Amino acid sequence: MAEVLVYVDHVDGAVRKPTLELLTLARRIGEPVAVALGNGAGDTASALAEHGAVKVLTDEAAEYADYLVVPKVDALQAAVAAVSPAAVLVPSSTEGKEIAARLALRLGSGVITDAVDLEAGGEGPVATQSVFAASYTTKSRVSKGTPVITVKPNSAAVEAAPAAGTVEALSVTFSEQATGTKVTSRTARESTGRPELTEAAIVVSGGRGVNGAENFSLIEGLADSLGAAVGASRAAVDAGWYPHSNQVGQTGKSVSPQLYIANGISGAIQHRAGMQTSKTIVAVNKDAEAPIFDLVDYGVVGDLFAVVPQLTEEIKARKG
Ligand SMILES: Cc1cc2nc3c(=O)[nH]c(=O)nc-3n(C[C@H](O)[C@H](O)[C@H](O)COP(=O)(O)OP(=O)(O)OC[C@H]3O[C@@H](n4cnc5c(N)ncnc54)[C@H](O)[C@@H]3O)c2cc1C
Repeated sequence: MAEVLVYVDHVDGAVRKPTLELLTLARRIGEPVAVALGNGAGDTASALAEHGAVKVLTDEAAEYADYLVVPKVDALQAAVAAVSPAAVLVPSSTEGKEIAARLALRLGSGVITDAVDLEAGGEGPVATQSVFAASYTTKSRVSKGTPVITVKPNSAAVEAAPAAGTVEALSVTFSEQATGTKVTSRTARESTGRPELTEAAIVVSGGRGVNGAENFSLIEGLADSLGAAVGASRAAVDAGWYPHSNQVGQTGKSVSPQLYIANGISGAIQHRAGMQTSKTIVAVNKDAEAPIFDLVDYGVVGDLFAVVPQLTEEIKARKG
């Protein structure tokens, strides 16, 4: 069976959820071989084996942390040369997309970004994308070289599928460009204790209807009752009520959670572009004609200041 390379996103050995989702998809195409780089790469092996990696190629060189993406591209290129995979899968983060693009260029291969599903095909893996503000769903496959595909978080369920996960050292020779851009300092972002927006299974968002930064505590309260991330419309962000890093939409982040709850958001096309592929969409809006209601699975026509606190209390009560 053909091998499929999966690029591992991890923090000091703790594997992030989108990588485990990639392993689920990789198993549809072939045998997953994971590539883990940097500090703690070796510690990723048990989680990766538990989710189907037959092999884990590791390299803990300091270059991966000290420089921007090129050392990682060098390593993936070395892995492709060693394995001759049927495809290379990379999580669709900003960094992941840059790595994928550079790798595809080096390999002379086609690249597909932001896939939301992946299946085996006679002539190579077929990727599903949601395009033009999610107005169209397309299926495509790479017709030249080794397919390099980035996949959005929450595109597949994490499934345990124990495999050998044999750890092998990956031999990497860094290119001249590898040390071209050095990381000069790092500042950890203050932790909110909430999940990362693009990876969260549930996202609770607030828009102009929230009517002030101080009222976002209502949105945060609902999010915390569900263990969710907090999102915001551009109107709320532009008003300075919530940080830009939480903006959902065309010029913000693209999310695809199991559940998206939009509060006081009208549903402009640019907002929809960032959340329309969510599995279940709920909206609370006091205007029954708001366009967001064209999109929802469940809609509540009502004042969010009345609805959201009740919803939060009910969820807390049911969780007991
Ligand atoms: C190039 C470009 C890029 C853009 N990118 C983005 C983007 O990335 N993300 C994004 O979100 N937007 C983006 N926009 C802006 C977008 O067009 C909308 O202006 C924006 O999404 C509106 O935000 P909103 O829904 O919060 O506000 P509004 O459209 O003003 O809607 C507020 C809603 O709240 C409801 N409401 C008010 N009070 C209450 C209440 N008490 N209870 C319940 N409901 C209430 C109202 O009925 C209304 O439907 C972009 C625009 C452009 C031109």
